[in-house]
Amino acid sequence: MKHAGKLLLSQEIPPEELHEYTPVPSIQKKSFGHQCLRCGNTKSYLFGHMPHAACGKECLYCRQCIQMGRVIECEPLYEADPGCEWPRYQEPLQ
Ligand SMILES: [Zn+2]
Ligand SMILES: [Zn+2]
Repeated sequence: MKHAGKLLLSQEIPPEELHEYTPVPSIQKKSFGHQCLRCGNTKSYLFGHMPHAACGKECLYCRQCIQMGRVIECEPLYEADPGCEWPRYQEPLQ
């Protein structure tokens, strides 16, 4: 699966650079369950709930991502804006 930009956790980005990133949902609700947008996991047994001190609720997190940093539903991932990172190539008109 390819992403337009790399998805990072907020703690992986220096605070002064955070404005260069676009927040995107980390875990999406799907008809079949949930999907982690960082690793693409859709297996329900790879999601867990944990009491989340930051928001005071039970939040869904991705067990598959836990070694790379916790991905939790109420905290967005940050997508590097491809517009400022990469030169844009214009498609020739057909
Ligand atoms: Zn939470
Ligand atoms: Zn994941």
